[in-house]
Amino acid sequence: MRDVIVVGAGPSGSYMGYDLSRHGFDVLLLEEHKEVGRPVECTGLVSERVMKLVHTKAGVNKVSGANIHFPGGEITHVSKSEKTIVMDREQFDKDVSRMAIDAGTDLCIDSRAISVKEHADYTEVKYRKAGKLVEEKAKVIVGADGVNSRVRKDIYGFRPKRIVSAYQVDAAYEMQDQESVDVYLGSKTSGGFFGWATPAGPLTKIGTGSLYPTARNFFNNLNSRFGKDRILGINGGAIPISYLKRTYSDRSILVGDAAGIVKPLSGGGIYTGIISSQCGSQVISSALENESVNRRTLSQYQRKWKRKLGLELWFDGLVQKLFASLSDNTFERLYRVISRPEVTSVINRVGDIDYPSKVVLSVIAKNPEILKYLLVRK
Ligand SMILES: Cc1cc2nc3c(=O)[nH]c(=O)nc-3n(C[C@H](O)[C@H](O)[C@H](O)COP(=O)(O)OP(=O)(O)OC[C@H]3O[C@@H](n4cnc5c(N)ncnc54)[C@H](O)[C@@H]3O)c2cc1C
Repeated sequence: MRDVIVVGAGPSGSYMGYDLSRHGFDVLLLEEHKEVGRPVECTGLVSERVMKLVHTKAGVNKVSGANIHFPGGEITHVSKSEKTIVMDREQFDKDVSRMAIDAGTDLCIDSRAISVKEHADYTEVKYRKAGKLVEEKAKVIVGADGVNSRVRKDIYGFRPKRIVSAYQVDAAYEMQDQESVDVYLGSKTSGGFFGWATPAGPLTKIGTGSLYPTARNFFNNLNSRFGKDRILGINGGAIPISYLKRTYSDRSILVGDAAGIVKPLSGGGIYTGIISSQCGSQVISSALENESVNRRTLSQYQRKWKRKLGLELWFDGLVQKLFASLSDNTFERLYRVISRPEVTSVINRVGDIDYPSKVVLSVIAKNPEILKYLLVRK
């Protein structure tokens, strides 16, 4: 019997494999696709923090600011001293998996988990490896299998309440300003989320998110700014922006997108996924060492990740809900506040893509009238 089976070799699952294997545990990592990192469903924007956690050369560009486009056509520029990395997501996923393999994880590609069961003393996973049915047992199972997690469906039975559908393309379009991401607000370019254009050298990643099922329509409005017939590939997907009420069971935990541990305001989940895996690996290691894998010991996982990220994700989730209901008129009123030099300078000083609550609270503290715009909708 294995110590741990991890389902899903995205960044969260591979990092979990790496962290457990380097502490001497016997880990099997299952990936349904024939190749790690494909298909890509991501823009690849991460903070320097992520690049410190993963040994990777996947960075293709660095940005230091954003041009925020308001529905009436106005644009505000914000910037910060730390760079945000635009990376080649496929390469990044491969690099995290390589770390796991080097540490001793057994990675099986083309291996799709089709059923997962917990028993009193072990867990059991049935998976299809290159079409053949295989069964394996482990003391613990980790669901790192993304937004449509099999582990979550079979053991937990509930799902994240708020899911953004995202539609993104790689376009043969070179943005003039390679140092800033474009962010598009308003009802024409997104449904309760935002649209974006991210410079990646000769390519641009153009996309939008929607809390309603029609990201495609919003995308068409956004894409028309970049000229027709420039699309090289479509790489959208779903982003869970609310975490589950429970992320552990008797013999399993859920990490990353499978648990909805994603930043609600940006939809970024690579950093939070890896942090959740670090927390999970510590708790699983200690439960295995003490031969006490059970609901009580695994519940420490939720305590740990919430201590690191819980308040941030909870607060950002509240702000996201307010943001999602803003009208174009309200965005225009917000523009008049945000474009004031004293406000942009606060954003420039405290902006942090992993911990946006700092900037939201600082801006509100200086400009309490924003609260009125957020709470009294017109
Ligand atoms: C359009 C778009 C843009 C995004 N941009 C960013 C960004 O710029 N920055 C950022 O931080 N985040 C971004 N995200 C979010 C980010 O992609 C996810 O949060 C991140 O991939 C979560 O990592 P994960 O390992 O938890 O899950 P995933 O990356 O989804 O990995 C899950 C893995 O499990 C595998 N799997 C699923 N089911 C099974 C099964 N039954 N058996 C075996 N394997 C299985 C999948 O093939 C996959 O490899 C974006 C998302 C989208 C859709």
